[in-house]
Amino acid sequence: FSDLTQKFFPSQNDKNSSPAQELPQDQSCISRSQKISYHKKSSSPVPSPYFLSKLQDYERRHKNCEPFSEPFNRTLQLLVTGKNSPSNITESDYCRYLVYNVNLNGLGNRILGLSSAFLYALLTNRVLLVDFGPDMADLFCEPFQKSTWVLPADFPFRDEFYSSQFREAHSFGSLLMKNANFAHLAPPPSLLHLFLSFEYSNYDKLFYRDENQEFLQGVPWLTLRSDQYFIPYLFLMPCFKPELERLFPDKETVFHHLGRYLFSPSNQAWGLITRFYDAYLARADERIGLQIRVFNPTATPIPLFTKQILQCTQKESLLPQLQESTASSSAGGSNKTTSTSMKAVLIGSLYREFYEEMKFMFWTRASVDGGQVVGFHQASHEGSQHSESHSHNMKAWADMYLLSLCDALVTSPWSTFGYVAQGIGVMKPWILNVPNDRDGDQKRQPETACTQAVSMEPCFHFPPSYDMRAKVIVDREAGLHPPVVHCEDVRWGLKLA
Ligand code: GDP
Repeated sequence: FSDLTQKFFPSQNDKNSSPAQELPQDQSCISRSQKISYHKKSSSPVPSPYFLSKLQDYERRHKNCEPFSEPFNRTLQLLVTGKNSPSNITESDYCRYLVYNVNLNGLGNRILGLSSAFLYALLTNRVLLVDFGPDMADLFCEPFQKSTWVLPADFPFRDEFYSSQFREAHSFGSLLMKNANFAHLAPPPSLLHLFLSFEYSNYDKLFYRDENQEFLQGVPWLTLRSDQYFIPYLFLMPCFKPELERLFPDKETVFHHLGRYLFSPSNQAWGLITRFYDAYLARADERIGLQIRVFNPTATPIPLFTKQILQCTQKESLLPQLQESTASSSAGGSNKTTSTSMKAVLIGSLYREFYEEMKFMFWTRASVDGGQVVGFHQASHEGSQHSESHSHNMKAWADMYLLSLCDALVTSPWSTFGYVAQGIGVMKPWILNVPNDRDGDQKRQPETACTQAVSMEPCFHFPPSYDMRAKVIVDREAGLHPPVVHCEDVRWGLKLA
């Protein structure tokens, strides 16, 4: 696997030498060879040889079935002519595809949905093609060797993916609703749509039943819309569990490996990341990332949230305690000693106020032990979410990646933005306990400022659950067992640990 290993999973030893010496630099994707020298020196999890061999198989299949290849054109004909799937879809004649549409929710959700889509494609021997849309173009490098994962611009149905009519006509859920026996039909249709976003119906959830997976295998074109990290649930499905356990003996690193493999920052994104890192973070002794997501500004006023963040970071010794008085001298000046350590705090937030408040506090008051200098930095403060904007998403990607380069991370509950940073950066973050109306969680204890995550894995926010009235969907509770546990921040959510 030397190509793959070198390209995506360089070993610890590689960090000691300049990346430029190790690999001829791929100018189309500079981050691929440089990123290892930016990630922290603690041990990087090693992917299993079986995962690497599956990736190698995948890349071979992707190359064989890439857009405009003969098998692609042949399989496309089935779609264009509306023919049913032939009974014997052999790989030499046809390929099977998973077309993923990213345009749903924010960047964190999209990255997690796309990671889940790729793993599903890997498990089911499909080829993943991605409709990035204009707002997500060129954020990432091409992940697969000598091929593209970008859906051709003139792909049929492309503009209809978003519509409710498309979902009504082609989604697995709505077809099951109209005909309970739909999944027993032979031959299966040439196209089916999987709708697995947070607002999916009970019928859409039937995707998660083992017996339906067999039927889906016969459909050459699957399209998928999902903003969820649905991988934990795949670990509960008997048809995928044994293979997943072989692929990921260390269950806590599933997203980490997928994320490092799939999402190398494009040259433009890498420029934003490295220029900021080199200017503000590189020389610090320790880098602390604060990912501050405010879902409900009315329920969570900035001063209250700042207080909570300080309580958390000081209790966990991430930031120093400050003297009560503003009158004392600083750690520097005539008392300056060589033992003064420098902490850089990177704030990831849509708002500027957290940066201003904390910077002011640490400027006007000395630390109690006098031995720490703390600098605050923020790369962007966009004010509000604009996931339809390319430049906004580029800054979000840069912020997420910069947070992943920190040595310790504090995140906000419910936020997929933080999940991506913690997974790529191999960190079990402290999750803030925010006063928040959003989930009406009575059990949350406001006096506990934050809780450390049990694993670095993202949370699947909306797993399927049993519904008494519908009587059709899977019973999640009955099948819950390690490595799948409930999330710290979403009571009913599922994560790997
Ligand atoms: P979630 O909503 O917290 O789960 O995360 P998402 O990434 O899915 O959506 C939030 C979106 O808001 C991001 O993708 C950004 O567009 C924007 N956003 C939120 N927090 C930040 C931040 O710290 N920095 C930047 N640049 N954008 C942010």
